[in-house]
Amino acid sequence: MLCEICGKEVPFTNVVKVEGATLKLCPECTRFGEPVGGTGGNSHGPSTPEERTAAVANLPQRHRRMEERDVFNELPPLELDPDWHKKIRASREARGLTLEAFGNLLSEKSSVVHKLESGEIVPPDALVRKIERVLKIRLRAPPGAS
Ligand SMILES: [Zn+2]
Repeated sequence: MLCEICGKEVPFTNVVKVEGATLKLCPECTRFGEPVGGTGGNSHGPSTPEERTAAVANLPQRHRRMEERDVFNELPPLELDPDWHKKIRASREARGLTLEAFGNLLSEKSSVVHKLESGEIVPPDALVRKIERVLKIRLRAPPGAS
């Protein structure tokens, strides 16, 4: 067989792609191009879709984990009296406590207390219990009121 580049007579030729053309070349000339078929030309390619599949497979898991956390956050909070923030303010003033003094008792900033009393922020359950303890009032709606 003849090499299509150097024209040398060789026992066998390799099918090689050289600049878009498929040529039959001797072993020496094979290095000028990319071997076509049979010689392990598909070293990279199929791995990419696999990686993409793995990446997609991870998505639902992450999503599920977020849903679990949402469910946890949706645990029913303490049901507060509709006038809870008015009760806080009235009770604090009845005790002659300033915002700062009341805040100190709760380990909260006076600005937080102010927002609580205006109903701007709803206290987390732990803070509700703390306020109830400090002011000796009840902020929670009576059971069965809803
Ligand atoms: Zn050759």
